[in-house]
Amino acid sequence: MTDRLYYTDARLDRFTAVVREITDDGCRVVLDRTAFYPTSGGQPHDVGTLGGNAVVDVIDDDARIVHCLASPIGVPVGSMLVGQVDMTRRVDHMQQHTGQHLLSAMLSDEFGWPTLSVHFGDETNTIDVACEEFDPTTLPAIERRANALIVQNHHVTVSFENAAEATGLRKPSDRDGELRIVTIEGIDRSACGGTHVDCTGEIGALLLRRAERTKGNTRIEFVCGHRAVSRARLDAELLTTAARSLSAAPHDLPGLVEQQIQRVAEGERERKRLAAELARYQATAMWTACIPDSDGVRRIIMSVTGPVKDAEPLAQQLVALGCCTVLVTNHEAGGVLMATAADSGIDAGQRLRTVLQAVGGRGGGSPRLAQGAVSDPSQLHAVLAQLACLPPLPEPLA
Ligand SMILES: [Zn+2]
Repeated sequence: MTDRLYYTDARLDRFTAVVREITDDGCRVVLDRTAFYPTSGGQPHDVGTLGGNAVVDVIDDDARIVHCLASPIGVPVGSMLVGQVDMTRRVDHMQQHTGQHLLSAMLSDEFGWPTLSVHFGDETNTIDVACEEFDPTTLPAIERRANALIVQNHHVTVSFENAAEATGLRKPSDRDGELRIVTIEGIDRSACGGTHVDCTGEIGALLLRRAERTKGNTRIEFVCGHRAVSRARLDAELLTTAARSLSAAPHDLPGLVEQQIQRVAEGERERKRLAAELARYQATAMWTACIPDSDGVRRIIMSVTGPVKDAEPLAQQLVALGCCTVLVTNHEAGGVLMATAADSGIDAGQRLRTVLQAVGGRGGGSPRLAQGAVSDPSQLHAVLAQLACLPPLPEPLA
């Protein structure tokens, strides 16, 4: 059984301990005691060094705590080792965890929303609370209230009490025997094995990021302490960068962004209108320049480098001028588009499908507009020759 030193001293960062077990590869070590916190109760594990080797994971294995090392340690069972916990990460977890206790207590007592689950992440934390209809405009009020409680600097203490006698717990514990109880003076009493700060003032600050509905409840994202400040700094930098690119002050951004979105939408509508107008002019010029075949049909062939679909407006304008067929190809991609005027007598969809199918390609469409592709672009030349030479369909028998 490993003696958990962090239970009674969350600030203990350096300790000595005796190796009790070690795996054959030398990378997993069990000690008689440890200050390393293992992943449990939603709180991530500590990192640091053990005997100078990097501790990369810490596992709670029932009564034992297993330290996972980056490289083999090479000492026998019974050796004495020095452990060093990375306190930057530990203190960050203490701030997030204590902040969560305070937030959960306040949301339950003052809003009637008990906490259902908690998640501590590397960047942000979330709690799911039993609230079906959350009004996002209450976020600032919740945040103000939580920060007011933090500033009141309530003591946070740890006690060990018998489960049968422990009273006033926020959530009844399902464990028997001795419970480790974390008390925020006047605010909360919870059974918890995690590491916490000594006074709420050490939480520093609590920043609510957002709330969203999840499975009929509400998930609230929050960060505490140094993380709240660095997150706010990052947000401020993002806003400053965005504002600078628009030559504006950050507080003018929402209105300006809305304006820009409208302008882009208007510009896109205008671009489409002009493209259609340009296609009309191009079509007239191309149609006029093309000499009709002996059957009176103008056969226009174009090659494009982009998607053949982009030539659709021009092809449609061309066939609208009458007695005309249009073939658009992309020789690299093997794409082909066919458009036919109603009076050409050619069903574009049927013809393209027939010719492409014969070479294992795919395609089809309506009688006036169709597109497809060959699987091997080298076949496109033959396909094109067939399509271009196709005579009009024979008149159907009456
Ligand atoms: Zn806790």
